[in-house]
Amino acid sequence: MELLYKSTRNPDETVKASQAILKGLAEDGGLFVPQQIPQLDVDMDRLAGMSYQETAYEVMKLFLTDFTEEELKQCIANAYDEKFDTQEIAPLHEADGVYYLELFHGATIAFKDMALSILPHLLTTSAKKNQVKNEIVILTATSGDTGKAALAGFADVPGTKIIVFYPKDGVSPIQEKQMVTQKGANTFVVGIHGNFDDAQTGVKKIFGDRELAVEMDAAGFQFSSANSINIGRLVPQIVYYVYAYAKLYAAGTLKKGEELNVVVPTGNFGNILAAYYAKNMGVPIGRLICASNDNKVLYDFFSTGEYDRNREFILTTSPSMDILISSNLERLIYRIAGDDAQKNVELMQSLAKEGRYEITDEMKKLLADFAGGFATEEEVSDEIRRVYEKTGYVLDTHTAVASHVYRAYRKESGDDRKTVIASTASPYKFTRSVMNAIDPKYDAMDDFELVDELSVISKTKVPNAIEEIRTAPVLHDTVVEVEEMKGIVKKFLGM
Ligand SMILES: *Cc1c(COP(=O)(O)O)cnc(C)c1O
Repeated sequence: MELLYKSTRNPDETVKASQAILKGLAEDGGLFVPQQIPQLDVDMDRLAGMSYQETAYEVMKLFLTDFTEEELKQCIANAYDEKFDTQEIAPLHEADGVYYLELFHGATIAFKDMALSILPHLLTTSAKKNQVKNEIVILTATSGDTGKAALAGFADVPGTKIIVFYPKDGVSPIQEKQMVTQKGANTFVVGIHGNFDDAQTGVKKIFGDRELAVEMDAAGFQFSSANSINIGRLVPQIVYYVYAYAKLYAAGTLKKGEELNVVVPTGNFGNILAAYYAKNMGVPIGRLICASNDNKVLYDFFSTGEYDRNREFILTTSPSMDILISSNLERLIYRIAGDDAQKNVELMQSLAKEGRYEITDEMKKLLADFAGGFATEEEVSDEIRRVYEKTGYVLDTHTAVASHVYRAYRKESGDDRKTVIASTASPYKFTRSVMNAIDPKYDAMDDFELVDELSVISKTKVPNAIEEIRTAPVLHDTVVEVEEMKGIVKKFLGM
């Protein structure tokens, strides 16, 4: 059966999956959502024996119904290959009574690789299917990890260019180095004077610029998005929740139908939304625990029903979660509004104009699957040290936010169902914060000394992604003001 997608801001226009992937964002500024969430039609006993790639096919074919079997299998094979340093692709690590789902074994050692290693293939396949003649220009705002993962995914992919904007002073030194050393003739990396929300708002504005779209078309270009609003990113992220459940079932950890809680360190709400979709597909997932850092706009939303971005933006040691506007939340809002685009538009307009909105009590009731929590900076570093001292396992700062929130949630609620924590980055990506948490004495070391020391204390090999940038030359050094973003895009494209 063909699954179509519609915008969260306009119920009348429906598009096929490949078209939704090409467009990224709907023309009315809304996000594409499937008309209904398909039900997983394979038995858990069969899933238990499947590889990551096979699981990916079973899940993704239900969402990308206009892809042929051959096309989809080819995309999956191109994405989940030796770029990952383990055949399991997303292994589970048990430590201190909880299962860390390691989503950081791809090319850039953060969970963005899970989706961004397949998106370029989904996108170029979609372009072919829709007879697109223009070159596709990927425009992305990043709080650190998306940028590098998108650059790595799209570098030298024929028929594409990629432009990444990042907050100049809002990413870790290793994240910045990873981006500015990116190779590939079709890649552009630009720092902006502003924070992530400024970068994201700037990108959204360029996307919405009708005049520019016409000029671009005349020059043989069209934009697409690699941000987590693209369903080509959301759908691949559902896979690892199905996979994790199936592996725990295969190991006998979970009985058939036993509910599994999931904790997700959250920024743009993409990863946790994928877990919510997995639950709605029929995977026995219990609570979805949304973990925030000091930018706890989502925690406040889940506790009060009011979303309010009017607050100070705080730079933390988990920069990929330093976000005040969680774009993907709109998909959940739309759903709890009963798929009512009009109601959703009202709330989103209020967010755009006043920076806040409040949902109704009825909508709030539909959020019972979720719990919110947050961790302060001190709680994050305490959690890294605690888990290391107790088990020898080293968490990155983002995962530590989730890990702390999980402990607090479990204590407070008494909910002791088995739990998976989405482990979204390798500790090697945030080495300084991680090592300082373990022992402040490490602060005296330089970045790469810290890397080597982390390897010693965690008894793990330094990932290739880090080895590569030790000596790599800086290839991108452009820094602009927020107002100059559109101009620099045109310049890069030679327009
Ligand atoms: C992007 C990112 C997150 C947040 O994920 P969302 O899907 O934006 O909620 C958390 N941790 C890390 C390391 C990330 O890169």
